[in-house]
Amino acid sequence: MFPRLLSELASGVPGVLFCYRVSADGTFHYYPFISSRVREVFGLDPRKLQTDASAVFDIIHPDDRAGIVPSISVSAATLEPWQYQARLRLKDGTYHWFEAHSMPRREADGSTLWYGQFTDIQTHKELEADLRQREAESAYQLQFHKLLASLSSDFINAPIGDFDQEIDRFLARIGEFFDVDRVYVYRFAEELTRMTNTHEWCRPGVPALKDSQQNVDITGFRWWQEQSRNLLQQNRVLFIEDVSKLPDSAGPERALLEEQGVAAMFCIPVVTRGLVDGFFGMDSLKVRRWRRDLSDLLILVANLLAQALERFRLEQELLNQSIRDPLTGIHNRRYLEPRIAEMLARYQRSGEGFALAMLDIDHFKQVNDTHGHQAGDQVLRAFAQLLQNQCRASDVAARYGGEEFILALADVTPERATWALERVIDEVRELALSFHGKVIPVTASAGLVHVSDLENPSPTPDELITEADRRLYRAKRSGRNCLVDASGASPL
Ligand code: GH3
Ligand code: MG
Ligand code: MG
Repeated sequence: MFPRLLSELASGVPGVLFCYRVSADGTFHYYPFISSRVREVFGLDPRKLQTDASAVFDIIHPDDRAGIVPSISVSAATLEPWQYQARLRLKDGTYHWFEAHSMPRREADGSTLWYGQFTDIQTHKELEADLRQREAESAYQLQFHKLLASLSSDFINAPIGDFDQEIDRFLARIGEFFDVDRVYVYRFAEELTRMTNTHEWCRPGVPALKDSQQNVDITGFRWWQEQSRNLLQQNRVLFIEDVSKLPDSAGPERALLEEQGVAAMFCIPVVTRGLVDGFFGMDSLKVRRWRRDLSDLLILVANLLAQALERFRLEQELLNQSIRDPLTGIHNRRYLEPRIAEMLARYQRSGEGFALAMLDIDHFKQVNDTHGHQAGDQVLRAFAQLLQNQCRASDVAARYGGEEFILALADVTPERATWALERVIDEVRELALSFHGKVIPVTASAGLVHVSDLENPSPTPDELITEADRRLYRAKRSGRNCLVDASGASPL
């Protein structure tokens, strides 16, 4: 009667009810009772389990077996409830997560009996895993957006002129976030036929490639060019998870990447003003599965980068406009004057001499009158370029007025300055410019002053310029096409 009631009761319960016994010495175990459901669910014969419980232990997933016997022993010793989660093999051979739940009781003969049930918790486990995955995902996204926001404000607040360091810092933070080996920006040139690595970040210990990646001819990389065009049109990310599996058509690209030790990479175009400017990418030296769902995030990164590049380009342009002469492209007076002040400061501090030359094109009005204003402009550009070519990094060539220029030579002796200016005058004479087939003869005059020529040991920039101008005037009066320095006019 009792077992029948129990069986009826068990048949209405979704889990598998059991009563499990372990002998006092632990040498044998069996199920005095187990629901017949054990047959439907696991394909096990409940009658056999009444004499030996081993068949249940045989269907436990190998990875979940380790702790089960010790946990039963603990429950037997302490008489605390026994609870265990494990994957069990179902009748169809697949595994489901089950939870066993039972209360132990000690029998008079020293054996232990557990009353409880196995419950299928597969759905619960799946939901839990799903939830964890989503939590991880949203935590990741949150972190990513925080990073993006912080990078964006860094870009906005970056001081003018700090551009390259700003991009380098950006790449470093992106590289650390995505846990890659290299992050880089390339700019395309000449209609996607050449590319240059402009910025690069490498994880410590990873070799840098930037120096070897300047103005690289990519006309041989047809696959890559094709991909770049597609990427651009579709605004998507190119993922390469395993470089060794690139198609045969990408032979040259694969060879290059393998030579660089790159196993996996991805890249995304950087588009400014609607044009593909270059691309931004990351390398992994190990084969790696990229998260495809990151495409959107990477597009955000690339857009941020594009905006920054554009902002810096505009700033550079503005900066250049304010310190450069638009006609000739060389510096203007606004840039020149503080540089002269710096040279003076260095002279006073350490005695480092410098020289200043004022140059003026001879009979320039005639050039305009004879050949036209455009020809005059061309002469000015050529003259400016010639001066610029004379400059070392610390020298300055500037357009001072209409056809008056100043050349400031840093760290120079009077002799060397004279020699340099004589060469300039000679080179101007040899310019041999032509406009619409007609040769335009050009000569120039110059007044040169070395800072040590002045009696005043701490002159102002104006005093120097005035003295150079006075000498220029003497050069004009002594026939033009010559140089006047402290010793007078140089021979024609
Ligand atoms: P000198 O040998 O005494 O220097 O004679 P010059 O004709 O060169 O002297 P002047 O200073 O009288 O003439 C300068 C001319 O330069 C006048 C002006 O029309 C011209 N000029 C100034 N700025 C520009 C410019 O941007 N483009 C052109 N084409 N001409 C300019
Ligand atoms: Mg002139
Ligand atoms: Mg003049």
